[in-house]
Parts: sequence; structure tokens; C-alpha cells
Amino acid sequence: MKAQLLTDSFGRVHDYLRISLIDTCNLSCTYCAPVLKAIKTNNNKIMTADEIEKLASLFCDFGIKKIRLTGGEPLLRKDFSDIIYRLAKLNITLAITTNGVFIDSYLNDFLACKIRSVNVSLDTLQKEKFNQITKRNEFEKVMSNIHLLIQNNFHVKINAVVMKGVNENETLDLIMLSENLPIHIRFIEYMPFSGTSWNKEQVYDIKNIIEEMSNKFEIEKLIDDKNDTAKKYKVKNFKGTFSIITTMTDPFCETCNRLRLTADGKMKNCLFAEDETDLLTPLREGKNISELIFKNVMQKHWQQGGQEINEHTHNRNMMTIGG
Ligand code: SAM
Repeated sequence: MKAQLLTDSFGRVHDYLRISLIDTCNLSCTYCAPVLKAIKTNNNKIMTADEIEKLASLFCDFGIKKIRLTGGEPLLRKDFSDIIYRLAKLNITLAITTNGVFIDSYLNDFLACKIRSVNVSLDTLQKEKFNQITKRNEFEKVMSNIHLLIQNNFHVKINAVVMKGVNENETLDLIMLSENLPIHIRFIEYMPFSGTSWNKEQVYDIKNIIEEMSNKFEIEKLIDDKNDTAKKYKVKNFKGTFSIITTMTDPFCETCNRLRLTADGKMKNCLFAEDETDLLTPLREGKNISELIFKNVMQKHWQQGGQEINEHTHNRNMMTIGG
């Protein structure tokens, strides 16, 4: 029997699920961590490895082909290895987004679980600025782990949130990393989430990067994947690529194929969706949750959770959604 796919009311088919494993992080980035100390979610409200496996497997029955693990910091979970060994048994591409600090401890597990694509967040190449942004002293560790991934032939993407007055003057330096390394730099526009000190004056229109780079180098536009959020470019003769994710200035919801599961088991059909569907409670009560999943998908708005995206947007903070 053919599987029922996760198709929304606009005909968009969803085959990509991002699962947040945890809602805490060892870094405290200015643009991500709440200004006020976050209240730690009670451990029994967070999905167990068993529940993550059950939910992931159910989503796969409905056509999910790719799962990205995120957080908080996914590698902070004590049972992280157990989780990826369980998910590796599913017929999916498994990927991860991490701040990079603990990669060396899990490299062999990544390899064993066929995780070949790792996104590492890095907003600056200046140690002092790294410490200011993340409020932790882990720059060297992150850089050495990025090199470790490359030496082991991983597909490495660097996620850099660009903020005016903070790091918009470093985009060229970051792209220069791709001159001799097969690395993929992705610039992300600064987005507003509850509890952070976002203001619209700090949003940098990252389309400017294309013009700046064209003035200095010969750049090529690459073909984007069908559902990719990033528009990809390459400096001629560089080993790696760079791309821009224009969530704020030029949203790309038309081709969205993503769904999200928060660490406390709530399904969100968009990063900016205010409404969420609790899957964990009914799962624990032994109820059938398939209908809830399809209902959530059908309720998906056409664009950005049906909200105006500004300082008044209603949402959780990124740490508790899973970026
Ligand atoms: N801890 C992991 C990490 O650092 O990559 C995974 C979670 S983090 C929330 C996932 C991604 O969200 C990171 O690449 C981060 O840069 C991005 N992010 C967080 N807050 C953001 C914001 N306000 N605007 C744009 N991107 C943001």
C-alpha cells in the first residue's frame, strides 16, 4: 500500500524533519539564548531515546526521507550515541546541526551511523568576538573540530548569523575559508525570537554579500536543490561554496518541505508557527497520533507561520524550538 504523504493544503509535500534533542546549550549566543535565564524543562517532559525513535519511525512511514538533529546543543545529550544508532536503522539521510564543541568525542559514532553532513555554527573568525557572541571560550575547539570533520571527508557547512555592527564586516573572511577547504559557508539573516534582544536595525540584508563578492572575485551561481533554503554561489577556483539564507528579506516558503519536533515533543510546521501540536502526551497515553500529525500539516500557513515577523512575533525562543 502506498504511504500517505505529509501534504499541506497548498500541495507542499514534507519529507524533511528536524528533531530537537534538547533545549539547553553549552554556549549562550546573544542572538539565540534568552536574555533572562531559561527555565530548564523538567527532564520527564523531554522525549526519551525510545520516544524519539518511535516518533521518527512514524514520520518515516509518512514519507520523511531526511532527519536533522538539532537543539539546544544535540551533543549535550548523555544518550546522544544511543539516539543516533537507533535512527541510523531508519531509511533516511541523517544529519546534524551543532556548535561544534564536542564533535571530536562523537566522530566515530557519526561515521558508524552514516552521518555525512554536519552543520557547524560559527559567526566569526576572531576569537575575542567569538567569546563575546557565545559568552564562552571555545573558539579553538570549534575550529579544530571543523578541520577534523574535513579531514574525515564530511560535508561541512558553516552557519553564520550576520548581524549589523557585530560581524557583517567578516563575510569576506569567512568566504575565504572556502578558498582551500571544501567547506560551505551559509550566511543566515538575523531572525527575531522570543526572549532575545533582536531589533530590526541589526538585520543585515545578506544579498549585499553577492554584490560585495562580485566586486572582488569572479563568482558563479550554482544550481540550488529543489527545497533548499540557501541560494548557493562559488568563487571561481575556490574549493568550497558560499550561500545566503534570506529568511527576513526574501522568504522562500513556496518550496518548504520541513517539519519540526521540539525536544518536549511538540510538532511545529514552521519555525515561526505559534501553534504547535503536542505529540508526546498522547504517545505516552498509548493513543494513535497519526491523525494529529496530518492535522498539523494541513494547518500550515503559506508563509512564516502566518505571522508578521518582527519584535512582536509570538513564538518560543530558538533554543527551545530547535534551529
Ligand atoms: N546548538 C546547535 C548550533 O549551535 O548549531 C544547534 C541549535 S542552533 C539554535 C541552530 C542554528 O540556529 C544555528 O546555526 C544558529 O546560528 C541559528 N540561530 C539561532 N538563533 C538565530 C537567530 N536569532 N537568527 C538566525 N539564526 C539563528
